[in-house]
Amino acid sequence: MSGIALILAGHGSHISANTAGVVWACVDRLRQMGVADEINACFWKEPPAFSQVLDTVEADEVVIVPLFTARGYFTQQVLPSEMELYGPLTRRGERRIHLTPTIGEHKILDSIVDERLREAVLQFDLPAEETAIAVIGHGTRRNRQSRDTARDQAERLRQAGYAGEVVAVYLDDEPDIPSVYQSTCSPNIIALPYFLADGSHVGIDVPRALGISGKGEAESVNGRRVYYCDPVGVDASLSETVLALARDIGLPFEPKSVESPWAGFPAAGRGALRQALEIGRTLRFGQVLVNSERVWHRDNTKESRSFATPAELRSHARENPFRPLSTTADMPGNWLVDLDQPEDAHAVIETVYPGLLADWAALEEGRLAPEPLEEVSKRQAGMFKGIHKLSSAVIKKAIDKVCGKCVRQPTWRHDLTAADKGLPCRSACNLWLSTARYLGEAQ
Ligand code: SF4
Repeated sequence: MSGIALILAGHGSHISANTAGVVWACVDRLRQMGVADEINACFWKEPPAFSQVLDTVEADEVVIVPLFTARGYFTQQVLPSEMELYGPLTRRGERRIHLTPTIGEHKILDSIVDERLREAVLQFDLPAEETAIAVIGHGTRRNRQSRDTARDQAERLRQAGYAGEVVAVYLDDEPDIPSVYQSTCSPNIIALPYFLADGSHVGIDVPRALGISGKGEAESVNGRRVYYCDPVGVDASLSETVLALARDIGLPFEPKSVESPWAGFPAAGRGALRQALEIGRTLRFGQVLVNSERVWHRDNTKESRSFATPAELRSHARENPFRPLSTTADMPGNWLVDLDQPEDAHAVIETVYPGLLADWAALEEGRLAPEPLEEVSKRQAGMFKGIHKLSSAVIKKAIDKVCGKCVRQPTWRHDLTAADKGLPCRSACNLWLSTARYLGEAQ
C-alpha cells in the first residue's frame, strides 16, 4: 500500500437524491482535480457505508472529511464507531487514518453564509432594522454539541450587525423552528438553512416547520414576510472547503493533470477485475455486464445511450427514479460505457455499484469476512441498538423484503452457506436495518 486517499463522509437519504448527490458532485470535482490517488464518498444511509468505505481504498494515508454542518452525534459518535476511529488520528497497521473537523466548522462557510444573506438583502431591499435572520440548524437531542455551529454562526451575524434580530433555531432540538415567530418581531425574516444539500430537510421538513411552501422566494406567514435562502453547501466552493480541511492535517493534496474522467476512484478490487478481464471473459455484476472493451446494462435495447462521465452515468442509474440502495435489481437500463482502457471498467462499476468490488474481490481471494448482525448491533449508538434481538421471524421477513430485491447476497446471515455465493454483501445495510426496525415495531 501507498498513496493518499480522500474520503468525504455524508449523511445520505432514503428519499432524496440530492442529499448524497451534493457529496458525489464534490467527489467528481476533486477526482478531476487530481488531488489524491483515491477519492471516495461514504454515507450513513446509502452505499458505500461508513463501516465499509475503508475497505474500498488501498492507500496508507487516509483522510476523512465529514460533510456535516455541525460536529455532534454523527461525527463524534456514529462515524468513529462505524469506522473504529479513536480520534483525529487512528493507526491501523501501516495505515494512518485522519479524521478532520466538519465542513461547518471551517471559516470558508462564513463567506458562503455572508453571500446568501447579501443576495437576499439586495434582491428584496431589506433594511437591517426591519429584518430578522434565523439560522436553521439540524441539531439533535442526542448530542448537544450539534447545536454549536448554527449558534456560533448566529452570534457572528449578530456581532456583524447584519440584521436587527438574529436567532438560531433547530429542526430536531430547542428552540424549534416555529419559535422564530415568537422570538423575533421584525416584519421580514430571512430563513437560512444551515444544511449542505437541497435534500428532504431543506425541501420539505424546514419549510413545513416554517409554515411556507419553500418554493417561492418570499412568502407571508401571519403578516410576516419569510425569505427562504438556498442551503449553504451547494456552491462549488464546497470542494475548496474540503481541500482546506484536508490540507490542515499536513498532506499536500496538490492538483495534477488528469487524463481520464474515470481517474481517482478507490482502488480495492481493481487488480482482481483487471486479471479477470485479461483472459477475455465477460463478467456479470448484478444487472451489469463487463468485458475489457465495454460495460453495459444487461437489458439494453438498441436505444441505449453511451455515457462518457461518472456524473452522467450516476444520474441515469441512481436518480430517475431515485434508488437509495444502488444494488436493488431495478437499475434503469439502456446504457453503456465504451472503455478507453480496460482499467476503467472498475471505475464504471464503482459508479453504479459503489463499494461492491471491494467485497467481490475479497470473496474471490478467499478473505471476505461477513459481519454478523450482533456485531453491527454492538456498534450502534442510536435507533438500531439491539437490532439483533428482533425475533428470527422479523429478521427473516426483512431479509425477504429488502435483500430479496437486491443483487447482493447477505453473507452475514447465519444460515447462508458457501453454496449461496453470488455478489456478496458483508454486512447489513442501512436500508435493511431501517426496514427490520420498522417491522419489529409494527409487530
Ligand atoms: S443487507 Fe440485503 S439489501 Fe442490504 S446490501 Fe446487503 S444483501 Fe442488499
